[in-house]
Amino acid sequence: MEPLRVLELYSGIGGMHYALQASGIPAEIVAAVDVNTVANEVYKHNFHTTPMWSKTIEGISLKEFNKLSFDMILMSPPCQPFTRIGRQGDVSDPRTQSFLYILDILPRLAKLPKYLLLENVKGFETSSARDELIQTLEKCGFTYQEFLLSPTCLTIPNSRLRYFLMARLQIEPFPFHVPGKILTDFPNQDQMDSEMPRHSAGLMEDSFTREPDAGSDSNGGHLQKRDFLFKLETEQELERKQQQDNDLSLQMLRNFLQEDGEGLSNYLLPAKYLLRYALLLDIVTPSCRRSTCFTKGYGHYIEGTGSVLQTAEDIQLESVFKSFESLSEEEKIMKLSLLKLRYFTPREIANLHGFPLEFGFPDKVTTKQQYRLLGNSLNIHVVAKLISLLVA
Ligand code: SAH
Repeated sequence: MEPLRVLELYSGIGGMHYALQASGIPAEIVAAVDVNTVANEVYKHNFHTTPMWSKTIEGISLKEFNKLSFDMILMSPPCQPFTRIGRQGDVSDPRTQSFLYILDILPRLAKLPKYLLLENVKGFETSSARDELIQTLEKCGFTYQEFLLSPTCLTIPNSRLRYFLMARLQIEPFPFHVPGKILTDFPNQDQMDSEMPRHSAGLMEDSFTREPDAGSDSNGGHLQKRDFLFKLETEQELERKQQQDNDLSLQMLRNFLQEDGEGLSNYLLPAKYLLRYALLLDIVTPSCRRSTCFTKGYGHYIEGTGSVLQTAEDIQLESVFKSFESLSEEEKIMKLSLLKLRYFTPREIANLHGFPLEFGFPDKVTTKQQYRLLGNSLNIHVVAKLISLLVA
């Protein structure tokens, strides 16, 4: 089989490229396009020979697209217009312009690509951008399937619920197609089922991420103070966390962590953060089987950007947070320091995302930039599996 010619749009640090490699399908990236110069440096650092187009997608002409003669498009358009926090600008958000441009170009290509895979946040599925994408695909003769998946489906102890759409240039629907349905698990995995039970993404969504409306319960009612246990955590949340930690089909975080002594003390949480945010932190230990979604503000903003790691495993959280409010500031800091809380390192987040060991950042990229770029990237195992299904 001739290697597929693949166009990687919004390439970032190359999550799609790694997923394509991991899928094992013979393919080459004929162009990777992104405007973020730091991301592009990282991309070039890891993929020396891939043509990197450091420009806006809207700046690429139909003629240039035609010249690339690609068989597949992999893309992760900007997600801010579709998140709750990003104000849901949808198609009227300027950051959606380039995506609408792609939809405009697609039907006019000299040769339509055979395959297309799109990744975005949960929320995209109800957007007008999604509706326009579907209309364009149908007009061009593609068949498609949508998914909402989290890495927990693949035993990875990290929540990162994302929307995916795969499309193939053919009339017959995918064998696993369910009309009008978004799949929340991988299809046709009979053999894998017996080896490792999987989880439907719906149960594993990023429900522990504290967003501005986290004070309301799932029924929209307002939580009473008595509903919170120690830490500002509801009984329901705590139960869900315990359920995940007891689920032996998920791997332990330990498998994804760096060895002590690799400069990990640089990642300890500063005392001022401990005091200010203690009750809002999502704290996990190496033997936990869960972590919340790492977003681009991780390591910089505390609230809702991802779990922190308790490295003193023998200390019980309850013992630290018991009667916490009645303690003096010094006592609070003293107690919190016992936990030896640290951030996950960028390498550890890369491990959870499935980046191979040879992936690295150029020296000049700061830790804050690394968190930012990883927060925008994707889970490689999830996407690799989708690419395999798409091309199979
Ligand atoms: N999948 C990527 C991340 C995608 S995040 C990864 O694995 O890292 C979205 C990316 O789109 C960002 O890197 C951003 O710089 C880029 N982007 C946003 N608008 C763009 C445009 N108009 N043209 C090209 N790239 C754009």
